[in-house]
Amino acid sequence: MDVIVYSSTGCEYCKRIKTDLANWGLPYEERNVTENEAYFEDLHAKGIYSVPVTFIGEHPIIGYRPNAMKKKLLELGVLSTNVPSEEAKKAEDEEAQAESVFTPLSAALVDDVYDFLIIGAGPAGSSAAVYSSRSRLKTLVIDKAPTAGALALTHKIANYPGVLGEVSGLELLTLMRRQAKQFGATFVRSNIMGVDFTGDLKAVHLPEGTVRARAVFVAVGSRGRTAKVKGEDRFEGRGVSYCATCDAAFFQGRVVAVVGDNAEAAEDAIQLSRFAKEVHVFMPSKKWSSDAEYSQLEGLGHVHVYPAHPLREVTGEDTLSGIVVKTPDGDHEVKVDGVFIYLSGNQPGTDFLGESVARDADGYVEVDAFLRTNVDGVFAGGDARRTPVKQAVVAAADGAIAAMSADKHVNKRSRVMAQYS
Ligand SMILES: Cc1cc2nc3c(=O)[nH]c(=O)nc-3n(C[C@H](O)[C@H](O)[C@H](O)COP(=O)(O)OP(=O)(O)OC[C@H]3O[C@@H](n4cnc5c(N)ncnc54)[C@H](O)[C@@H]3O)c2cc1C
Repeated sequence: MDVIVYSSTGCEYCKRIKTDLANWGLPYEERNVTENEAYFEDLHAKGIYSVPVTFIGEHPIIGYRPNAMKKKLLELGVLSTNVPSEEAKKAEDEEAQAESVFTPLSAALVDDVYDFLIIGAGPAGSSAAVYSSRSRLKTLVIDKAPTAGALALTHKIANYPGVLGEVSGLELLTLMRRQAKQFGATFVRSNIMGVDFTGDLKAVHLPEGTVRARAVFVAVGSRGRTAKVKGEDRFEGRGVSYCATCDAAFFQGRVVAVVGDNAEAAEDAIQLSRFAKEVHVFMPSKKWSSDAEYSQLEGLGHVHVYPAHPLREVTGEDTLSGIVVKTPDGDHEVKVDGVFIYLSGNQPGTDFLGESVARDADGYVEVDAFLRTNVDGVFAGGDARRTPVKQAVVAAADGAIAAMSADKHVNKRSRVMAQYS
């Protein structure tokens, strides 16, 4: 049975599909829609406006969905065994390395009293653990899902200072966690059921018991985007896209919407403006995020930006015909041929704190420059506070500040002491 991969120049997910197929030993034909207009027209005629698409015989798999692709290949007898891809093997190995840092939560660990309890083992929590354990604070780090934080899920990170090349977020985190463990920090996996920060010893309730500590750092990050809007899944690859580099050409001379207010939304709106006859940018918030470079959009007559117009729904019968956005006058349907979505979750995962510390209307923990909350001995940082930019290096810096602030609190120092070797 023929396997045909429709790709475009510069499309990262197309490369991954080709690698998987090569690892499975399956020959395939590549049809690059950027280089050959006939291939582009082929897809257009089929109502598909997105690459990669892998045809296994007559069956299209739209997007990079290695599991769905493998399932179909097995079902049709094209692939005879369940061969893991190199990428899947690497991911398994990374997860095993990440898990090896964590210790089972025994009764003895629960019963101990800690100097510093860190909730969340992302870059903020892990960096705090490096600093606190190095300054001999007895440190416990609790994480409910160590491979599911924002950095742990980041496929490649290339801008973390001092780390050359591209590493995965989980690899980087495992290095930080191992470093902290070498200095004496203990990492455990558990769920926080509630907290009591009223006494000198702060209490954190877990299903395994109650852990007590002199200082606590809340480093739980902010949640990724989990919910899709109505209609989004249905039209994925058939009008809904997440990558202008891959799919902008499908919308030559058409009307498209861009949904988002981040750097990627601004960049991809510029890219789309070179193809589409109209680009409507609907921002969920009132202004662009601080790292968005949107000045090039301002002089373009065919680009229109609508702040505070969140996306509600993607609509259409057989094909996508529009989107519904929320406007100050209520929900409004806009006719478009395609929509490019760049939404990320910005909700901090701080609900478990309840009224124990001051949080703003969006749930971010309120802190001062030393990352102190309104409760003595409780600190917060990383994406769980209203940070000016959500970046791993900023979260790690917060971890350093929080640990040194905690050291001052626990050891009753008159000032925060920097750590020099
Ligand atoms: C798709 C994507 C790509 C990104 N790319 C980059 C990039 O290239 N470069 C860059 O610098 N930054 C990047 N970032 C941003 C960066 O990942 C975040 O700013 C950073 O990870 C925030 O660190 P954090 O420690 O505050 O939170 P997180 O990394 O989210 O870690 C929080 C941890 O807390 C744990 N947790 C949550 N709730 C609880 C709870 N109730 N109890 C116990 N544990 C809990 C989670 O399991 C998680 O391990 C990216 C983010 C995303 C979403």
